[in-house]
Amino acid sequence: MEAKINEFMEALKGRTPGEAEFHQAAQEVIESVWETYDSNPKYKNAKLLEKMCEPERTIMFRVPWFNDNGEVEINRGYRVEFNSAIGPYKGGLRFHPSVTLSALKFLGFEQTFKNSLTTLPMGGGKGGSDFNPKGRSDNEIMRFCQSFMTELCKHIGPNTDVPAGDIGVGGREIGYLFGQYKRIRNEFTGVLTGKPLEFGGSLIRPEATGFGSVYFAQHMVAENNETLEGKTVALSGFGNVTWGAALKLVELGAKVVTVSGPDGYVYDKEGLDAEKIDYLLDLRASNNDVVAPYAEKFGAEFFPGQKPWGVKVDMAFPCAIQNELNEEDAKTLVANGCKYVVETSNMGCTAEAMLYLSSHIAFAPGKAANAGGVAVSGLEMSQNSLRFNWTAEEVDEKLARIMKDIHDTCVRFGTKDGKINYVNGANIGGFVKVAEAMLAQGCV
Ligand code: GLU
Repeated sequence: MEAKINEFMEALKGRTPGEAEFHQAAQEVIESVWETYDSNPKYKNAKLLEKMCEPERTIMFRVPWFNDNGEVEINRGYRVEFNSAIGPYKGGLRFHPSVTLSALKFLGFEQTFKNSLTTLPMGGGKGGSDFNPKGRSDNEIMRFCQSFMTELCKHIGPNTDVPAGDIGVGGREIGYLFGQYKRIRNEFTGVLTGKPLEFGGSLIRPEATGFGSVYFAQHMVAENNETLEGKTVALSGFGNVTWGAALKLVELGAKVVTVSGPDGYVYDKEGLDAEKIDYLLDLRASNNDVVAPYAEKFGAEFFPGQKPWGVKVDMAFPCAIQNELNEEDAKTLVANGCKYVVETSNMGCTAEAMLYLSSHIAFAPGKAANAGGVAVSGLEMSQNSLRFNWTAEEVDEKLARIMKDIHDTCVRFGTKDGKINYVNGANIGGFVKVAEAMLAQGCV
């Protein structure tokens, strides 16, 4: 089996040189699904895995815009329309200097399986730009978003491709993007999700990724007859996702002791509370990139340039960016008694870290644990089509049910010899639905 997987990966790397992040994401899925794939002639003869590794369409474009000094700046925009077997392409837009085609291919590829797991009819896609919003004025952000959408609007639509936010793209950016789409297309539709509430956004969408990963964690710990109450937790990041996770963890009685930024991490031995969590939102909204002011304000310890994985905790939730937790971090966490890692960022763990964690403790991969964000995006699409809004309780209840379904799918497809491997469960569960849909639609 290993030889066949290697052969497959070598061919893929030959066709897509230099796309390391995409290869990492593809290898993980291929290793999990190979047995299912290779033993099913229908899948193999249709070369489904080869097809799934090739985006249906990739759009790359120039984004010229004027900065506040009246100078022209040029960025590169992308939309990778990966797979539409089970619904319109769906996935976020990332504005971050690390954005490359390889990064967006890994994200779009993962999104296909994640969206499949949500039980909602959404295909997979991802887009964004190497534009760095940090330190930019509101007007600069608006002009950038308008230029970006001037090209992107030719390729998306409420039944074709529905982007949303991701790192660097929140409610403000979605507003500017939506305004420009509406101006050009003269169409008020649910073409984007993550919209502000006044024009079609869904309640609970900002909290959804964080809430969802905590709901997923509730089911994980329940497998060991435990609850979240009293658990100490390390979170990374301090944006939307970290905020949502912290809010729900604290509500359920867990003690969150770390948050982090690119400048280092904060250790708050008292644990976060409602006031501190609110402050995180303000800190992020101030468009800065440092978490140190939190430590100063609340008398917590700050560790410059370090990640929070050396702290002794029961659970860790990487919530920031891909490959933020490596094998050494994984070993330190486990040695310090950590029993659960809930990957809330996309591919937050390196391949080696994931392998180590999966074989030593309970590890939930991002495509299952963080699917709550896109799931509520799917619910936003439904509400837009209905021209109706559900209450926060209705959305939250649906989100909780979806996260339970995702957990159950992971258990169903990932249990072997009485042990649950969430990585295999998520990959196989996500794959089978997309595979069956592709087969049913002919050679597409
Ligand atoms: N960016 C989020 C993700 O990685 C959400 C995407 C969406 O809502 O379409 O899943």
